[in-house]
Amino acid sequence: MDKTRRMLIVGLAALTVGTTACGGSADKPADHEGQQNGSAQDRNKPNPAKTKAVPTGEGEGSAGDASIQVFVNKRYELAEDYAPTDLVDVEVPTVLRNPEVNQLREEAAEALKLMFGKAGEAGYKLYARSGYRSYKTQEALFDRYAAREGETAASRFSARAGQSEHQTGLAMDITSDSVDLQLSENFGETPEGRWVSGNAHNFGFIIRYPKDKEEITGYMYEPWHLRYLGADMAAKVYESGLTLEEYRNAGDAS
Ligand SMILES: [Zn+2]
Repeated sequence: MDKTRRMLIVGLAALTVGTTACGGSADKPADHEGQQNGSAQDRNKPNPAKTKAVPTGEGEGSAGDASIQVFVNKRYELAEDYAPTDLVDVEVPTVLRNPEVNQLREEAAEALKLMFGKAGEAGYKLYARSGYRSYKTQEALFDRYAAREGETAASRFSARAGQSEHQTGLAMDITSDSVDLQLSENFGETPEGRWVSGNAHNFGFIIRYPKDKEEITGYMYEPWHLRYLGADMAAKVYESGLTLEEYRNAGDAS
């Protein structure tokens, strides 16, 4: 198979199963979204761009892994042994049976419940699909894709362990009946997705991977991936019209 064709297929596969930064899969949720926690995988893969997700000491979002504003992407990693200490079960409709992914940090879980409630009042039913994922869960997920597609290809649609916002316990993938409870780019165009896009910041969430920002965020458009930042910062980022990366670089520490 020639390379172009292969990449196209990989890309389509990523779209179809809704993997991307979330590293989760729509069609085999139990398998791909953390059911198999902690298989013994090697942890010796080279990781050239490793930078701790810690503290540059300036601006918001630099207070360490446990900060509500912790900054995580392909360059800023969480520690392997980091796990939130205040995870709780979300009290909203969920899709998957794996209890791990139906958790968020307490503050984010409360905000999610509030947001889903307001959405419901407006006539939009939302579901939580994939929230917290441990380092080991993400590692197993990425290793599985890497074994199948090769590491380079896998890294285009799945986060490496330590580089997933899901490990913070502050990210939740949401969905609705109108996209069959899957993680689909089409969600952004549904009535539910539009409501979320215009209102999430009021509850402290941002759409972390906006459309056409892949070169900046490292990930394709994910209208389903919400990141909790707290209401003040989420509103600032939303109003700036910038990605979180750009917002931080703009140096707004007010
Ligand atoms: Zn996600």
